[in-house]
Amino acid sequence: MALGVFICRCGGNISGTVNCEDVRDAVKDMEGVTTAQVTDFLCSKPGLQMIRNAIQRRKLDRVLVACCSPHMHEKMFQNVVEEEGVNRYQLVHVNVREHCSWIHEKGATEKAVNLVKGGVRRALTLEPLQEKEVELCRDVLVIGGGVAGITAALQLSEGGFRVNMVERNPSIGGRMAQLSKTFPTLDCSPCILSPRMAEVENDKNIALYTCAEVVDLTGGPGNYKALIKQKARGVDLDKCLKCGRCTTVCPTGVPNEFEEGLYPRKAIYLPFPQAVPSVYVIDFENCQRCGSCVEACPAKAVNLDDEDKTLELDVGSVIVATGFDLIDDAKLRSYRPEHPGVVNALQVERLIENELTEGKVLTTKDGGRVKGIAYVLCAGSRDPHRGVSYCSAVCCPYSIKQAILLKKYLPYLKIYIYYTDMRMIGRGFEDFYREAREKGIVFIHGRPGDVTPLPNGNLEILVEDIDTGLMFRNEVELVVLSSAMVPPAGAAKLASTLGIALGEDFFIASKHVKLDPISTLRAGIFAAGVATGCKDIHDSVIDARAAASHAANFLGEGRMKLDPFKPVVVGECDGCGLCVEVCPRGAISVEGETPVIDVVSCNGCGACVSACSMGALKLPNYTKEAILEEVKGLVDGADDDVVVIGFYDDNISYTAADNAGTARIHSPTNMRIVRTPSTAILDKDTILKSLGYGADGIMICEVEESHEEELAEKLVDDVRGELEKMGVEPERVFLKPMVLPIFKVLPQFITEFTDTIKKLGKIPEEKREKLLG
Ligand code: FAD
Repeated sequence: MALGVFICRCGGNISGTVNCEDVRDAVKDMEGVTTAQVTDFLCSKPGLQMIRNAIQRRKLDRVLVACCSPHMHEKMFQNVVEEEGVNRYQLVHVNVREHCSWIHEKGATEKAVNLVKGGVRRALTLEPLQEKEVELCRDVLVIGGGVAGITAALQLSEGGFRVNMVERNPSIGGRMAQLSKTFPTLDCSPCILSPRMAEVENDKNIALYTCAEVVDLTGGPGNYKALIKQKARGVDLDKCLKCGRCTTVCPTGVPNEFEEGLYPRKAIYLPFPQAVPSVYVIDFENCQRCGSCVEACPAKAVNLDDEDKTLELDVGSVIVATGFDLIDDAKLRSYRPEHPGVVNALQVERLIENELTEGKVLTTKDGGRVKGIAYVLCAGSRDPHRGVSYCSAVCCPYSIKQAILLKKYLPYLKIYIYYTDMRMIGRGFEDFYREAREKGIVFIHGRPGDVTPLPNGNLEILVEDIDTGLMFRNEVELVVLSSAMVPPAGAAKLASTLGIALGEDFFIASKHVKLDPISTLRAGIFAAGVATGCKDIHDSVIDARAAASHAANFLGEGRMKLDPFKPVVVGECDGCGLCVEVCPRGAISVEGETPVIDVVSCNGCGACVSACSMGALKLPNYTKEAILEEVKGLVDGADDDVVVIGFYDDNISYTAADNAGTARIHSPTNMRIVRTPSTAILDKDTILKSLGYGADGIMICEVEESHEEELAEKLVDDVRGELEKMGVEPERVFLKPMVLPIFKVLPQFITEFTDTIKKLGKIPEEKREKLLG
């Protein structure tokens, strides 16, 4: 075996706290190490050339890089070693930046030595692996039919892909369909969106499922199976003539969602004039089943007995474009959202469209004439105490847009805009802002804490203008809340169904915020538009086009390489079926006494491997031997201080630790993380032996509410029971369920757990011997 070790200084990012030369010297004479070198930027051309040269000159058959997170550059390093003839799966990527130099000051070098030693020992266990090529399904699932979903679907269709679009509402269009005009050009929103919606309806490559949601996703990248639940529409899509007679006779009136509750609709209704599909729909929750609509329909299109459907779709890739909702009014109580003179900005869009373009005057919800309007920007945004901590990104420009439009239709209106900071960063936005000031719209630099209803029905706003220090007291008839944009209802459930992560703001997390913003953490699933964070139509469309290109690239010619981390049969099976029971994907079956693995559905979690008491299965390169060799390196020489081994799932927990590193949140050097595809690969013996070899505490981090977390819980219980029998404190083993949004508190959990282990002290030698059995 010939291993080359390459350590990166990362221009001071690593060498600022880690003495890279000391790390090199500590590992250069380890068994199997042929060369150990340090360089400034390993990922640069000269850095990569250094690796290439060493592979050729020293005839290396495996490589270790110690640098940034593997989530950043592992693929690139794998490609380089492969080009030089080394199997890409014999590369070990050790994270000495996010997990070391960025989160420690003292002791970073010593920890880096252990991390690299763990990597070296692991590298020597690795076997060359080959990827398997499989056919994939070239159809795409687009979830959400707003402007982002529509744009992605049409682009994919143009490229010859078949698209299934699933929209939960009875019509596509999303929020853009509700807007009057769009900033900063003031072009008519329905006029630019409706033709695109009609294209979707008429496109032979696009199958549209409205009133529908994805309730399950099985299979794997390239070959997903989506289970869709579609609510009964009650009106036949092909028969409906759109004559509206059903609506006329319907006796039931309820608030119209498209009109943000400002106007009523019937229980059988057309969502809005440009709706796609252009067909009526029954709101079964409010329908009294009187049958008048059935009788009135000349085309016999209405069916009160229509039932919900479940359908299964095969798709290779998924684009999530689920957009946003406005923050719940309950969070904005001090702004009196229940008052007839308080509306949200989407309601103003509908008022402009329905009232002002019709030549009417502006009134409050109870009909009072409006002469003065106050916009409250950042209502719930940038305010973690009563809303969300982020900026909703579009409130400044859309409030200015609405103010300009209101002034255009009703020049007598006095409009005040209360702002925290005016953020007009898009192209042409600053001119737009200037235009508003020229039109006499008054900007007040201050955020009102509340709105006070007055006995005359008006509303009072009292605020100090930060620029002048003057107190402003305004009495207006209408207050407009530019409310925070938040993930839509059910976003967290959908993310867990799809197996993708959410970010700190609870919008969908990107694989890499800067370098791969459209990919999610799951291969073949991409996200676009406001689903990944607040943005305007322009940026949503850019996202959508990028997502369509990513999906097209991913699906390519219809074949894909599967990563080789799938269980293989290596020993005798007694046909007990435990592996089948624990598999979360239904990817393993036992035929006679032979396990059969469906490599496409298998997600490589390793649960079947650890469940098999016969040792009949192994997960290549994540064998018990490989894990324990790494542990031995991580604990090596830690005679004075306790060592905590963290077994982290590679997807969420490892990313959370990366994010904490990027945010430079410090935690004790005692923690050393072992990256596992999922912690389901661990069994009792691996944990006990890790403690036996020198760890003093074990922290398992696994995705919250996942099947793997359930397995980890059981494992921790088992191990604790065993430790108790051996006279070792059970609290040395701890499970932390993880979700990405809480990455900032992960270092705190690490610190608390390390403190617990420090109090318990090191495990005595005689107990370690017992643990090793
Ligand atoms: P959305 O428009 O929210 O569409 C998402 C779609 O997904 C919806 O149809 C929804 O029903 C569907 N969906 C959600 N969850 C599911 C699920 N689980 N299953 C299936 N379907 C689901 N931007 C501008 O550029 N110019 C403007 O003038 C402007 N004015 C605005 C005014 C206001 C008051 C507001 C609040 C925003 C404004 N914006 C404006 C921003 C603009 O609305 C967004 O940029 C745009 O709507 C984003 O499109 P999207 O497709 O990402 O999301």
